[in-house]
Amino acid sequence: MLPAEVDGECVFCAIVAGRAEQSLVATDDLAAAFLDVQPAVTGHTLVVPRRHAASLADLTPEEGAAVWELGRRVAAAARAAGLAEAVNLFLADGAAAGQEVWHGHLHVLPRTPGDGLRLDGRFRLVERGALDAVATRMRASLPSRRRCTRR
Ligand SMILES: [Zn+2]
Repeated sequence: MLPAEVDGECVFCAIVAGRAEQSLVATDDLAAAFLDVQPAVTGHTLVVPRRHAASLADLTPEEGAAVWELGRRVAAAARAAGLAEAVNLFLADGAAAGQEVWHGHLHVLPRTPGDGLRLDGRFRLVERGALDAVATRMRASLPSRRRCTRR
């Protein structure tokens, strides 16, 4: 597992600032992409906002867009470099989702047949009424585009 801090500083902030070791893949004004030191697959890349933001709710819309766009470019690079036939994107937002480093990050996972990576879960059909009840509850709680803050 990654250390969460380097000399008392958030490890991803240290990487973005060039104060910690990194294998940089790409960078732009608002986001940076570097290889995970403990990759699940070859080319496993983390895309982070350059500014420290612990969660999705802490990102500005522009930072969120930058992280997504850099993730798309990294996915294309993995394919073009011959590391991937397909790609998974994964983001853990909160401890219950598996987030371990409190600087939000998007995982770009280049996939090849038989690479052994899998997302476990019990996917099951749910009846429409139950789906509608959940959708209604979520619609009523949807923040405006600019006011997406954690509760
Ligand atoms: Zn940070």
